[in-house]
Amino acid sequence: MLLLVACILGALIGSFLNVVIYRMPLMMERAWEDEIAVAQDKEPVERARFNLVVPRSRCGNCGHMITALENVPVISWIALRGRCSACGTRISARYPCVEIVTALLFFACAWQFGPTLQAAAAMVFCAVLVALTGIDLDTQLLPDQLTLPLLWLGLLLNIGGLFARLPDAVIGAAAGYLVLWSVYWLFKLVTGREGMGYGDFKLLGALGAWFGWQAVPMLLLVSAVVGSVIGIAILVVQKKGRQTAIAFGPYLALAGLITLFFGPQLQLLPLAL
Ligand SMILES: [Zn+2]
Repeated sequence: MLLLVACILGALIGSFLNVVIYRMPLMMERAWEDEIAVAQDKEPVERARFNLVVPRSRCGNCGHMITALENVPVISWIALRGRCSACGTRISARYPCVEIVTALLFFACAWQFGPTLQAAAAMVFCAVLVALTGIDLDTQLLPDQLTLPLLWLGLLLNIGGLFARLPDAVIGAAAGYLVLWSVYWLFKLVTGREGMGYGDFKLLGALGAWFGWQAVPMLLLVSAVVGSVIGIAILVVQKKGRQTAIAFGPYLALAGLITLFFGPQLQLLPLAL
């Protein structure tokens, strides 16, 4: 029963995460435009309200308002055969995929942690990582509005030692940030190019806050190995130059999820190598 509820909750949250992934970068862009306008002493452009709640979702092609019945996670997409009911334009398969992935992650949280505060916290953790992954793949951004609350939440939960001892979590947050910050500056000094963004430091800092400094080597190892394998595969397939920037956030997120579900067993692996 608990597992079923977790699955349904995950699909519903996944549906909301689709909105976050699509709208948050647009909201950030508008905020930047307004800041520039203010800096240049111009009036910000008057715009209709646009946030995670309003306006209601519409078809990107014909503007057809998505009805409640058409908004049921996964099922609606299958029933509509992946097309808008009004104009027949294809709806990306990514929407049901995000919903299915979130449902599976919530299922795994309930399975692993049972009806506990840990399970609820793990679900929030998974949801934020799914949103960050989607946004990073789309825009190569990891918004502060997601990475920083994730970091604070990790520290707050670990006051009670939910996933790590508080001192380990505090050191983990600093260590996670500093490690990638150092890599960034070393890479920049040597090559003159920027290999990753500040969002990556903050994300690893957040993961360190959740799992403690002991998890940081493992997080780095997993994200670097998976990132290089997939990154090289993409470069080979797309035949793009090595200059192509690759989003690192999704690999950090994957490493974070692996640590959440298999953490204690894996923490010693980097030391063994
Ligand atoms: Zn349409």
